[in-house]
This record gives sequence, structure tokens and C-alpha cells, in this order.
Amino acid sequence: MIDVFSADKQYVAGSYARFPVNIVGGKGSELIDSNGKKYIDLGSGIAVNIFGIADEQWVSAVTEQLGKFQHTSNLYYSEPCALLAKKLCERTGMKKVFFSNSGAEANESAIKAARKYAADKKGKDVYKIITLKNSFHGRTHTTLAATGQDTFHEHFLPLTEGFVHIEPTVEELVAAVDDSTAGIMFELVRGEGGVLPLDKEFVDAMAKIAAEKDIILIADEVQTGNGRTGELYAYMNYGIMPDVVTTAKGLGGGLPIGATMLGEKVENIFTPGLNGSTFGGNPVCCAGAVNVIDRIDDKLLSEVVEKSDYIFKSLQNAPGIESVSGLGLMIGIKTSKDAKTVVSECMEKGVIALTAKDKVRLLPALNIPFDMLKKAVDIIKEVCAQ
Ligand SMILES: *Cc1c(COP(=O)(O)O)cnc(C)c1O
Repeated sequence: MIDVFSADKQYVAGSYARFPVNIVGGKGSELIDSNGKKYIDLGSGIAVNIFGIADEQWVSAVTEQLGKFQHTSNLYYSEPCALLAKKLCERTGMKKVFFSNSGAEANESAIKAARKYAADKKGKDVYKIITLKNSFHGRTHTTLAATGQDTFHEHFLPLTEGFVHIEPTVEELVAAVDDSTAGIMFELVRGEGGVLPLDKEFVDAMAKIAAEKDIILIADEVQTGNGRTGELYAYMNYGIMPDVVTTAKGLGGGLPIGATMLGEKVENIFTPGLNGSTFGGNPVCCAGAVNVIDRIDDKLLSEVVEKSDYIFKSLQNAPGIESVSGLGLMIGIKTSKDAKTVVSECMEKGVIALTAKDKVRLLPALNIPFDMLKKAVDIIKEVCAQ
């Protein structure tokens, strides 16, 4: 046995400020650390474990595929990849799917699709992508450029050119769009930026202007997607139809997968050799994702809405809580106390929560049992009131 804390500190790149907790297992929305301490998990591995830890149905879907073959490469056909693409298209109205391994890669491919569409149709000078301030689109150089937060850009300049960041107002949008605009990319609820849902008026304006000017509308649903907002994808909450929808995080239920869903305008944008990913469409990840998508049904979605209502009602106007924002089970809490202090104190009391900028952020598993959720919300209230 190694000492995990010291080995990690010595050998793992220091990219993360970890909590001093070594998770060794769990079940559903309960996590267990190496001291045997139990936690109610309101983070689900940052919106990834949609059905919690070691969910039996998901584990059997994944292990069944694992026992058949774990990988083939994209030189050949395989059923899980084709089946997942079919299900995603049928549930969304998108036409084709490009698979990768992460949210950043899903967004890279969306940006490629928008730029190629614009270059093919309007010429090579049309490549500007408009994104939002306080957005987060990933850690690759191009998705960092897309990310509208300067703190992420520092140390890595120069980034990919051609991105402009605006506040989500109709005025700034109208001012930013011109003949060189290829795409508009946005999170319907900016997650890392502070759990900030967009106004319907602004979203409608983006959809209208994109349709009028033949600009590719890209919804980054890496965090908002896969049932989290009470609809399968958050664009459905808003009643718009993007040209490209990206997702990752929750899609695989805990395994790495990214999906770039291509609508009618860009369905044939990627011809052989134009884009690729060695692991993209991995059969084990796709088998897990098929299980996830199949189980995000009306019943589950209405439970998401019910749990969301419960959290909002319990926390709004509670002592030490200034405001609650979000959509579905993607919730940001502005606390009087420092958010990091709240998260640490919750952890001591057995509740795992996250932060987003200066807020406490909750992203529980969609199937978290109500009694566990109530217990965890009571602990958050207690911590915030002190
Ligand atoms: C997490 C996230 C990403 C990046 O996903 P990775 O899998 O970490 O590359 C991109 N966009 C949004 C909205 C995210 O929340």
C-alpha cells in the first residue's frame, strides 16, 4: 500500500488543489473515504455520475460490453457507437454525431464545424466566433480562447484567434455580429461562471440573428446536458433549435465521452479524414451512455424538476443565504460566508458540494433519493446560518 496523499503530491502534476479526502468507494449518492467516513454527494464528480456511484444497471451495461471488446478504433463499425448516435439524434432532432472523449474536444469539433461551414459558404475570412463573458468551454488552446474569463487565459498566450466575448445582452450581441461572424457559442446556464441561466429574451435574439445571418448556433451543453436542467438538453427548456449541440460530462455516466451533435446545416461537414479521435465512439463508453440516455425519461426529468423546486424553496431566504440561481439540478448559492468555507464545513459534516466562482454549486446525481437530498440541504442550511 502507498500513502496516497504523499504519492499524489510527489508524482501527480500539481494542477489541482485537492481536498484532503481519499475516496475509496460508495453507492449511489453516498461516497466513502479511506477513514470510513460517509458523505452525501451533491457534486456527482462535477455533473458526471448521473446515476451516482456504481449504479447497478449502468455497471452491467458497461461490463457486458467490456466482456465483448473494449476498443476497435474508428476504422471499423461497432454497434454501441451507432446505437448511441441514433438515440441522440432521435431524441434531439440533430442529424449526426461526432464522438470524442471530453467536453473540450466536443467544443473543438463544434468550432471546426462552424468555421468550415462559414469558409465553404462565405469565404475564408468568415471565422469569428462570439462567446459570452463568464463562460467556460474547456482547457485546450482553442476552447480557452472561447472561454470568456481572462484568468484562464493568463500564462498561455497567444491563444487561437477569432473569438470575441460579450455580455449576454441583445445590444452587445447586435453590436458584435457582423459579416465575419461564423458562430455564436454559449452555455444556456453558465456553470463554472457562477451558475447563471441566460434570459429567454437573449436566447431568442441569438437564435433569430443566427438564423437570419446564417451563423452557426452552438449550444455548449457539456454541463447542462443529459437531464440536468429538467429537460434532456437545456436548449429544450428555452424552446430553441441550435445548429450544433455539444455534450460530455454526464453523458457517459462516469466514463469519458464527448459528443458534438450536428444539425441539418452542418450534418455533412465532416467528410473522411477531416476530423478524428482514436478513442472517439469507444464501445464501452458508448454502452454506458446508451444506458444513461435510455433512462433519462419523463419520470426522471419530472423528479429533477421536483428536487430542484425543493432545493430552491428550502434555500431561498434561509439565514446566511443571499440568493439561489440555476436550472434543474444545477444550482448556485450565494452565501454570506465565503463559498469555500461553506464547502469545507459541509464536507466536515458529511456533505460534498462544489464551488463556482464565489458561489456554492450543487450538481447532485439526478436519481439522488429525496431523503438524502433533504438531509444534505438541512446541513447546508445549518452551515450557512452559523
Ligand atoms: C466542463 C466543461 C467543459 C470542459 O469539459 P472537459 O471534459 O473538462 O474537457 C466545457 N464546457 C462546459 C460548459 C463545461 O462545463
